[in-house]
Amino acid sequence: MQGMMMHRDLRIIDILTYAAEAFPDQGIVSARDEGDVNRLSYPEILGRVSQLAHGLKKLGVKEGDRVATLAWNGHRHFELYYGISGIGAVCHTLNPRLPAEQMSYILNHAQDSVLCVDLSLIGLVEALKGDVPEGMKIVVMTDRAHMPDTSLDVLCYEELLDGQPTDMDWPEFPETTAAGLCYTSGTTGNPKGALYSHRSTVLHALYVVAGHPQSLSSGRRALPVVPLFHVNAWGMPYTAPLAGMTMVMPGRFLDGASLYDLMQAEEVYTAWGVPTVWAGLQAEIEKRGNKPPKGFEDLVVGGSAAPRAMIAAFEAMGVNVNQAWGMTEMSPIGTRGLLPEWLKSASKDEQIDAKTGAGRRLFGVEFKIVDDDGNRLPHDGETTGELYVRGNTVIRAYFENEEATKAAFDADGWFGTGDVSTVGEDGRLIIRDRAKDLVKSGGEWISSIDLENHATAHPDIAACAVIAVPHPKWDERPVLVVVPAGDKRITLDALHDFMSDHFAKWQLPDDIVFVDDLPLTATGKVSKLTLREQFSDYVLPEFRESTA
Ligand code: AMP
Repeated sequence: MQGMMMHRDLRIIDILTYAAEAFPDQGIVSARDEGDVNRLSYPEILGRVSQLAHGLKKLGVKEGDRVATLAWNGHRHFELYYGISGIGAVCHTLNPRLPAEQMSYILNHAQDSVLCVDLSLIGLVEALKGDVPEGMKIVVMTDRAHMPDTSLDVLCYEELLDGQPTDMDWPEFPETTAAGLCYTSGTTGNPKGALYSHRSTVLHALYVVAGHPQSLSSGRRALPVVPLFHVNAWGMPYTAPLAGMTMVMPGRFLDGASLYDLMQAEEVYTAWGVPTVWAGLQAEIEKRGNKPPKGFEDLVVGGSAAPRAMIAAFEAMGVNVNQAWGMTEMSPIGTRGLLPEWLKSASKDEQIDAKTGAGRRLFGVEFKIVDDDGNRLPHDGETTGELYVRGNTVIRAYFENEEATKAAFDADGWFGTGDVSTVGEDGRLIIRDRAKDLVKSGGEWISSIDLENHATAHPDIAACAVIAVPHPKWDERPVLVVVPAGDKRITLDALHDFMSDHFAKWQLPDDIVFVDDLPLTATGKVSKLTLREQFSDYVLPEFRESTA
């Protein structure tokens, strides 16, 4: 028997029309490329989004067309999220940190018909030297007065809006209609596209609002440092208006001092981003007498594991830290922080230990962990296996890429994350490693994440990464690549002493090598691929003489 309820297709634009009605005093504050700070309420933004939608239609954008964005976090980028999807087209976010070659590959793979680019990023489009889809129009996201001097044939964003009606009869279409496209950061092979629908995006926003009640509450201010150009800024452009929050958009300056000043001036309550960014803010806070910016109480960290020392430092400043874990292919969030009730019953040390995990499973995302043969393993918090996920916010295929699709799913249609994890009975997720980042020594796994987390707590280590080096007896051994914090070079003995409480002797690194910087991927994570390439000729100390 069927239920007898209405069916209304879920549409992204309904989030914004709701926010404009329910939270008219909230909106968006943007540090812009033009150098000013812009303020718009949700009703004002909705008016501009309507103008943009009319302007895009005038440009010839139709349902299903891909419109690319190459931009920092700002109100115009947010407007594009809603204006493009509102008319049934697809908002394709491009990552400015990608090399030109990959950017061209992505633009041509997606066949974008329009590219909207921030003023400060126009040089990246010039560098593509015309290797873009034929007939693609370029819109610079600024006003006439700030239009850049460029050899490219460009249109002006504000002129696209000028004179257009501030209201719109938003079209209806099936909720499974494509709305957003984001390519994975390309840590392995060519980037692969995740094509989000209206349905998956709205459900993701609802799941995340339900799962993060503390970080997302009306009247408060949220700072997405996580970029709108990658994984929808963890969905914040949808969750913040849905929850009635004002978004503070940082633009292109993401160093500790710029973030501190903006957060202080705008009284940001919650800030979301990857650990590398928070390391910069942490150093800045320490420089300014350990005083966090005014009103800053909540930090959501994800994208890679947050080191224990960083969590402890922010918690000591009175900032509540939560990890979120997810993937481009998952819209992206799959977990939330820990239960406040549980945290209340734990000691501070236990709380911080628990916060080094990835948090608890969100409603709507199913987990299973499996062994090498695909057999399910227990969710007992101890057994380790590869994590597979399933749900309305997870991709069912990659965009026009059969080969990658074939490799990504198991026979039952679950998506393989490549994350080696434990899952607790309460859905608590601990990521032990990326499958390919684990060090396998004598048939036993060593978690490079664990080693890195503990090593970064040492005062002489600013940043570090573990690589697996081939070993004739043990298969692989871990080596620690270290960026020193000052002039002192930590010795292997000192490192072992420092870490021996947490690790068995065989788990400790065999060597330390020093570097000035760690290579980063386009999304700010340490690129293990590049690091492995850099050290492909590396020989462990015990074999140096015999190979010399
Ligand atoms: P991306 O698709 O670029 O967002 O990368 C997704 C991958 O980042 C995941 O599969 C994890 O390996 C890693 N990741 C994301 N969040 C976390 C976290 N909180 N802890 C550890 N790894 C994470």
